[in-house]
Amino acid sequence: MKIITTIEQMREHSDRLRDEGNRIGFVPTMGFLHEGHLSLMRKAREENHTLVTSIFVNPTQFGPNEDFKSYPRDPENDSVLCRKVGTDVLFAPSAEEMYPEGSKTIVHVSGLTGVLCGASRPGHFDGVTTVVAKLFSIVQPHNAYFGLKDYQQYRVIATMVRDLNMGVNVVGLPTVREDDGLAMSSRNSYLSEEERRSALSLNRALRLAEDMFEDGVLDSAAIRDRVRETVEEAPHARIDYIEIVDAVELTPVETISGPSLLAMAVYFGKARLIDNTVLGKRRSRAGMNS
Ligand code: AMP
Repeated sequence: MKIITTIEQMREHSDRLRDEGNRIGFVPTMGFLHEGHLSLMRKAREENHTLVTSIFVNPTQFGPNEDFKSYPRDPENDSVLCRKVGTDVLFAPSAEEMYPEGSKTIVHVSGLTGVLCGASRPGHFDGVTTVVAKLFSIVQPHNAYFGLKDYQQYRVIATMVRDLNMGVNVVGLPTVREDDGLAMSSRNSYLSEEERRSALSLNRALRLAEDMFEDGVLDSAAIRDRVRETVEEAPHARIDYIEIVDAVELTPVETISGPSLLAMAVYFGKARLIDNTVLGKRRSRAGMNS
């Protein structure tokens, strides 16, 4: 596994790989890798000649009172895991390398970024789209892999790629969960044992919503209320939002008539956890592509 920390070297390497006819698969991450990340890397490994993984805790996607400084980091273990799943190139630039003084450009996707996490975390998605646009331009992947745990992020990036004709195939892959249903997240490391037990209410609430929908309940408010009750029963839970929106446009849905995203963000102690499910999914992945 090659470890690259400069943009120039990464671009040269990708140029060469592309010239030689290699298909490049790319998995951008913020590190502190877990099975969720590894599932993306394995899929990318399978579908491409070369797997590039990036690890960069991107300062511009954190708000001033958020956890940039305390975000968990473990570069040694990350590099062992990257090697294990067959990463060819680990791209791990510094913040100075990615944002030299004088950087002036921000990539902004309108509409989709003003709701859900975008409403609670102003500027967050501008940070995400700007860094992902930069990473795409440096790594020049054919295929890029994202987790549907960050469903809104996936939609925002797929839309950016479509609108800016970036020519990258954006692939969304299912959320990987712990055996007890908790969605894997680097931020789970913030949870005390008791908070972690409480956080299982998220998955419980999502499954309950799926059951209601299966039983024919199409009224968003009714489903949302039950989800809210279930989450609120758990000690330590502080709800940021629980919403049901159109799975493609992320606009509010009153009566579920097509694929609809039930998304939530809930604090347990200092950990802000997100989770979601798509109700009324079509069997193909229709509606998921931009
Ligand atoms: P992060 O390091 O949190 O920025 O995540 C990097 C990528 O891994 C993103 O595309 C996430 O959506 C994805 N990811 C994070 N957690 C999971 C999970 N539990 N299951 C699937 N993908 C995940």
